[in-house]
Amino acid sequence: MKVQEQFDRLAETIRSYNPGANFEQIKAAFEYAREAHKEQKRKDGSPFITHPLAVAQIVAEELHLDSESIVAALLHDCIEDTPVTHEDIAKLFSPTIADLVEGVSKLTRVHYTSKAEEQMENLRKMLMAMAKDIRVILIKISDRLHNMRTMEYQSLEKQKQKSFETMEIYAPIAHRLGMQKMKWELEDLSLKYLDPVGYEEITEALNEKAAEYDGFMADIHDQIITRLKQAGIAARVYGRMKHPYSIYRKMYTQNKSLDDVFDLFAFRVIVDTVADCYNVLGIIHDLFKPLLGRFKDYIGTPKPNMYQSLHTTVMGQNGIPFEVQIRTKEMHEIAEYGIAAHWKYKQGISGESNEQSYEWVRKLLENQEGADAEDFIHSLKVDMFADEVFVFTPQGDVSNLPTGATPIDFAYNIHSAIGNSMVAAKVNGRIVQFDYRLQNGDVVEIITSKSAHGPSRDWMKIARSSEARSKIRQWFKREKRDENIVNGRASFDSELKHCGIAMKELLSDDNLPGILKKLSYSSLDDMYAAIGYGGITSQKILGRLREDIQRINHQHQIERQATVPVEGNPDQTRPAVPVRSKGEQGIVVEGLSNCLVKFSKCCTPVPGDDIVGFITRGYGVSVHRSDCPNAAPERRRPEEAGRWIKVSWGTNTKESYRTILSVFGKDRINLILDISTVLSSTKTHVAGLNARSTADGFAEITVEADVTGSEHLRTVMKKLEQVSGVMRVTRPAG
Ligand code: MN
Repeated sequence: MKVQEQFDRLAETIRSYNPGANFEQIKAAFEYAREAHKEQKRKDGSPFITHPLAVAQIVAEELHLDSESIVAALLHDCIEDTPVTHEDIAKLFSPTIADLVEGVSKLTRVHYTSKAEEQMENLRKMLMAMAKDIRVILIKISDRLHNMRTMEYQSLEKQKQKSFETMEIYAPIAHRLGMQKMKWELEDLSLKYLDPVGYEEITEALNEKAAEYDGFMADIHDQIITRLKQAGIAARVYGRMKHPYSIYRKMYTQNKSLDDVFDLFAFRVIVDTVADCYNVLGIIHDLFKPLLGRFKDYIGTPKPNMYQSLHTTVMGQNGIPFEVQIRTKEMHEIAEYGIAAHWKYKQGISGESNEQSYEWVRKLLENQEGADAEDFIHSLKVDMFADEVFVFTPQGDVSNLPTGATPIDFAYNIHSAIGNSMVAAKVNGRIVQFDYRLQNGDVVEIITSKSAHGPSRDWMKIARSSEARSKIRQWFKREKRDENIVNGRASFDSELKHCGIAMKELLSDDNLPGILKKLSYSSLDDMYAAIGYGGITSQKILGRLREDIQRINHQHQIERQATVPVEGNPDQTRPAVPVRSKGEQGIVVEGLSNCLVKFSKCCTPVPGDDIVGFITRGYGVSVHRSDCPNAAPERRRPEEAGRWIKVSWGTNTKESYRTILSVFGKDRINLILDISTVLSSTKTHVAGLNARSTADGFAEITVEADVTGSEHLRTVMKKLEQVSGVMRVTRPAG
């Protein structure tokens, strides 16, 4: 056929179902594509434009799609095969059409090789997700159908590869979209190239049977027509052979010969109303003997892909079984064209946006919730509207990640070793930040290095998948073990000191095995490592060891109280061991001997201050200054009244106590230097110093200092007040 004739035929087809189509634009698209492809030829030697024309013909004739779809079908290979860009098409036609063409091109770029079933499912899902506009998929399937129809001109290798793809990807998608007619044709064409011998056998046998049973088919057809006329039911009746692939699959999966395959013949009765469907069913069952268990009511319970029909298998007079499908015209349209049939019903309403049409698909899917889980509703819903993103490895494998996933998630999804040695990431060939949000169809490449430092703690916040986060945590746990042990040990040691117990006492050879058992660690290093990477805190561990700590403290007390006779004077005794002052930190707690003491951080009391104690849960007595707001009588909770107790400074105070001072003054150069000088001249050890300038020219300086007691502290404060610019020196509390 000449190119012009082919186009005229297309226009004719469109006019037959959509007289209001934008013929001017369709013609322009044809001419534009013809020009763009003018240097190209198809494998059979014909001008390339015959292919887009044929695809547009399928889109029109088989799917009855709208003008935009026809135009996009005509232009569908322009972006991929010619210098034409998205921008060009957007300008000359419309942005929507440009998006449709680009969508089809994107799907064209996806390549498939033989993969595991799981990968296939991902690929199918990804195509659906990438398509965004359902028309992209419909045009792509039409494109594939035409390629399959003309596959004989391709190399053997290409035939096999394309047929495999079609069988594994496109036919299932056509099925999910309810497009039976296209699905069958795609399957039969694929089978022809995938198993030429099997295909040949079946088609030959079917042709033989068709000839053999030609009279049988005509006879059945007439019987049905006659009875329906008598009953006054208007109907169209078709008889046909089942299509080769459905027979092929039955033969192979059920290991049957062609003669064993049950129903080779099928009749279809198309009527006007649902009521007639059931009337016809009654008539058929009256005419022929129904086979038990072969009746299916897909009108009452539609298939997930929207298919509706009554199915029954009956026995002809000569003992040959055949299937009868009964449905209305609308049901038939949907059975043949699936989602495209619905699309068709929606078109022609002017001003309707894609979103609305899309909304319609979404609603349809939601309405079908609870239908057969395995099938398309579920997957289409998940894929098109939900929380997954599909991206490629440079090798073309598909990774399925949560929406919002980053290159970090991708890397750890491939393998934790890839994630741990990642130094950079590329998306579609360009370097991206680690927090880049991956898009459907992105090709992601992770650049690794042997000298990579491993993940950073920030990655835990950036990663979207729990898989990546847990792998990063694992890494810190394992790789930084030495560091974790050192940090964990230091933390444990300092926490233990608050209890007034030395590490070697608690963890003596006698105690250690019992303690490790209690904490379920196999070694001390394991315990330190756990503290170090944040799996558990030192406080928590000490909480679990409270009994051991109390026992040791009790032991200390007994040791202190034990006395021995003073030599040479048997009437007198002296303590067996010197009184320890360190444990009490210089504090006498009324009514309690030898309990744990800590100084509250809010007011940092020093010897000489008026103080009060509070019995905490688990960590002994916490000592506050009497003037600390946290210890103020009006702030004490009534139910805790019994826990506030009198404490006082004993004689055995420590060498120094840490406290906090706050200095406020006019900011100036060398203010900090002068403050430091005062501190060192008063022999005050500074543990920390933090200065902050305020916007209005003042400075606030917090000093953490070690002092012997309140007298020392008063001296320091007085001297600080004399520093030029200093306006106020206070002890923060509360
Ligand atoms: Mn094409």
